[in-house]
Amino acid sequence: MIAEIIAIGSELLTPFRQDTNSLFLTEKLNELGVEVAYKTVVGDDRDHLVSVSRIALSRVDIVIFMGGLGPTEDDLTREAVSESMRLPLKRNPDLVAELYARFAARRIKMTENNVKQADVITGAAVLRNNNGSAPGQWLEGQYEEKQKIVVLLPGPPVELKPMFAEQCIERLRERVPQQFIATRVLKVALMPESECDARVAPIYKEHNAVQTTVLAAPGDVQLHLKARAETLEEAQQLVDDLAEELEDELDERVYSTRGESLEQIVGYYLQMRSATLAVAESCTGGLLSQRLTSVPGSSRYFLGGAVVYANDLKTAFSDVPPMLIAEHGAVSKEVAVALAEGIRKRCKSSLGVGVTGIAGPGGGTPEKPVGLVYVAIADGKKPEVMKRKVPGDRERVRFYASQMGLDMVRRKLI
Ligand code: ATP
Ligand code: MG
Repeated sequence: MIAEIIAIGSELLTPFRQDTNSLFLTEKLNELGVEVAYKTVVGDDRDHLVSVSRIALSRVDIVIFMGGLGPTEDDLTREAVSESMRLPLKRNPDLVAELYARFAARRIKMTENNVKQADVITGAAVLRNNNGSAPGQWLEGQYEEKQKIVVLLPGPPVELKPMFAEQCIERLRERVPQQFIATRVLKVALMPESECDARVAPIYKEHNAVQTTVLAAPGDVQLHLKARAETLEEAQQLVDDLAEELEDELDERVYSTRGESLEQIVGYYLQMRSATLAVAESCTGGLLSQRLTSVPGSSRYFLGGAVVYANDLKTAFSDVPPMLIAEHGAVSKEVAVALAEGIRKRCKSSLGVGVTGIAGPGGGTPEKPVGLVYVAIADGKKPEVMKRKVPGDRERVRFYASQMGLDMVRRKLI
C-alpha cells in the first residue's frame, strides 16, 4: 500500500514555516510497511484543496490530510474532502454538545463559527482531540471504484501526534498487509563516494528486494540497507545477505556494520588490544581528541595529547626538532611522524598520532596547497604516514583529517 500526505496551510508556503508533521507521519507509516509515495503542501484555498485531494485519491491507497480543521473561514479541509469524495457533510449533534461543554468549562462564550468543527463527512468515524478543539476524521470509502483510506488530522503538532499514535496506528495495522522491516548500515571511511558506489552498485542492483541508499559525508560513506518481508527473519536475511556481499567487496574499508561511529569502533579495538592512544594535533585543533572523548568510557584507552598549532609548541610538547621544521616545513610527512612519535613517548602510550595540514582558506602555496594533510601513526616500531589533498572548505578539511587519524588507528589494530 502507498500513501500521500497533504499538508494544508498558506503559512506552509511562506519562507517562515515548514511542514514538519509529515516527517513524523512518514516514520510511523514506514514502520507499518506503508511507503509514502507523495507529499503535497497546499494553501488555504478551496479549489486548490479539491484539486490536490482528487489527484491524491486517484493515485494512492491512503491519503492523510493535516491542518485546516479549525473554526475559521480559511479552514476548508472538511469541505474540500467532502466535495472531492462526493460525500456530504453532516453536523454531528454529540460533537456540537461537546464543543459547547468545552467552552463552558473554560467560561468562554462559544462563537457560532466553531460549530463547523462538528461537521463530519458521511461515513467517517470521529477521531477525538484531547489536546484541542478540532476533531479528526477517519474515512474508508470508494473513489473511482477503488477502496481508499482517508484521514483528516489537525495541523498543530501537539494535537496531530497523539491523535495519530493513539487512534490511527492500530486501525492502519489492521488494514495493511502484515510486514516487517529490517535495516543495516555499512560505513566506509576515506573512500570517495563515486569509487564506493562504482564498486557496490553492481552488487546491490542484483538485490531488488533490498532498498539501498548511499549517503556521503566528508571522508565517510554510509550504505543504508532496508528490506521488508512477511516475517522479521525473512527481512533480516535479505539485508544480511546483501551486507555480507558488500563487506566482501569492500573488505577492511568497512569500519562498522551496526551503525557504530568510527570513534566508537576505534575505542572497541583499543580496548580489545589493551592499547592506549595519545595525539598531537595541529590543523584539527583538538577535533580528533573531541571525537575520541565523545565516546563514554574513552578514558580507558585515550590518554590525551596536545594541540600544537605554533611551531614552538610542536617542539615544546611533542619534541619535534626545530631543524626538521626548518628543513621540511611544518606541513610535511617528516613533521607528522615526529609529532606522532614525540607525543607517544611523552605520554607513554602504545600508539601516537600526529596531524598537520593546511585547512585554509589562506596559507596555501603551489607546492603545499590548501587541503594538504599529513597524518602519521607511531607504535614504537615502524611509523606510517598518510598524505591526502582534501577538497573543500576549512571544516571539511579538518573533519577529513580527524577521520584519517581515526581510521589509521583502526587499521593499525585490525
Ligand atoms: P487545525 O486543523 O487545528 O485548524 P490548522 O493547521 O488549520 O490546524 P493553524 O492555526 O493553521 O491551524 O496552525 C496551527 C499551528 O500548527 C501553526 O503554528 C502551524 O504552523 C502549525 N502547523 C500546521 N500544519 C503543520 C505542519 N504540517 N507541520 C508543522 N506544523 C504545522
Ligand atoms: Mg491552517
